[in-house]
Amino acid sequence: MLPRTQLQSIFCLDWRKLVVSTKDSDVIDQAEALTRILSRMRPLRPRNVALADSLGCFAAHDIAAPIALPPFDNSAMDGYAILARSCHVGARLRVTGEQPAGGDLHLRGREGDAIRIFTGAPLPDGADAVIMQEDVERQGEQIILRSEVRPGDFVRRSGGDVAAGQKIVSAGERIRPETIALLAAQGVCSIEVGGEATAAIIATGDELASGSEPLRPGQIYDANTPMIHALLQELGVRVRSVACCADRQESITNAVQAGRDCDVIIISGGVSVGARDFVKPALAAAGAQLELWRVAVKPGKPFLFGHASQCAMFGLPGNPVSAFVTLLLFVRPAVLRLMGASDDAIRLPSWSASLATGVFNDGERPHYMRGALRGGEFLPLARQESHAVFGLSQSNALLLVQPGQRIAKGETVRIFTWK
Ligand code: AMP
Ligand code: MG
Repeated sequence: MLPRTQLQSIFCLDWRKLVVSTKDSDVIDQAEALTRILSRMRPLRPRNVALADSLGCFAAHDIAAPIALPPFDNSAMDGYAILARSCHVGARLRVTGEQPAGGDLHLRGREGDAIRIFTGAPLPDGADAVIMQEDVERQGEQIILRSEVRPGDFVRRSGGDVAAGQKIVSAGERIRPETIALLAAQGVCSIEVGGEATAAIIATGDELASGSEPLRPGQIYDANTPMIHALLQELGVRVRSVACCADRQESITNAVQAGRDCDVIIISGGVSVGARDFVKPALAAAGAQLELWRVAVKPGKPFLFGHASQCAMFGLPGNPVSAFVTLLLFVRPAVLRLMGASDDAIRLPSWSASLATGVFNDGERPHYMRGALRGGEFLPLARQESHAVFGLSQSNALLLVQPGQRIAKGETVRIFTWK
């Protein structure tokens, strides 16, 4: 389990400001909820994957550089390899050979000589600098220097980028295209990464229709399943099954039983206190243990977390915006932890921004306001309702506003993104 201070820093929360509702004594604060969730998440067994398949995975161990980079001294330019001390503007040098990239011809640089050389070609022994071809005038087998040359000019030294044995990737670090470039340059073809998390998604609600059917009166299209699926996909989670259940306990219990061999089950809707909210009894009937229910965040208060043996179960509120925010705050760190992410890598990226319009939280829960971050400025959406998916589609960042907190236009705020 993460120490409190690390958890706090995941969302940069100030513990003294966190609210535990006095009205609902069982509503728990966000950091406490995350602590409890993460304490249940055991990283999955690492696996070996081809480098090409490692994108988005997390390194299972530190990786040390097998070789130095560059592996040998070489030229950074097309030009001439020379001995700097024999050079000055106007000096005339004899071209004695040519060293292309690809194989070492073992030519030797001597005072008064120049060797034609190309970018990436090994620097001949004896030479200590390269002069660009643009800085010489070629006359037959001779060149005349048009600029000064210092030792080391346009030479890429062996080990100048990476020393052999140096740590190049840390355990828990996400493998990005940039990381793949580094590992490929090291001749690494496969790496150990954290296990692949699997998920089952269950949407609940009598009113839900799928996009392939025309809407009947009173129905709405299921927005949550595709959204949850997409976010999980982005995180590298394999979605194994998707189900849509009516508001009937038995139907939800069956879907939960069917998904129990996955690492996580994510259920949306039916987690509130309505007479037709069946997720809690359905989970109990499926043998799951309820770990927490109701968290002091807005949107997303009815969020639920439980488990049955190794399967973690998340109940998200049905409103798509609430489902999205609770996915980011609780499910995202949980699945990343399963996949072997470091504390750093599970943290939502956070930035400083100037607030484009004043905000006030007159509620009792910390409010994650959605908005657009552009050019260093954060503009909260005018409509913050939790059913409003157009606003959600226009937002790319969250601002946390504490209960009673007023923030004026132009103040610097810390906002969170999820890319
Ligand atoms: P619930 O959490 O089941 O009380 O649902 C809260 C609101 O979210 C209701 O207006 C539901 O119609 C809506 N809702 C529930 N599930 C979904 C879904 N999968 N897609 C879109 N809206 C939903
Ligand atoms: Mg419902």
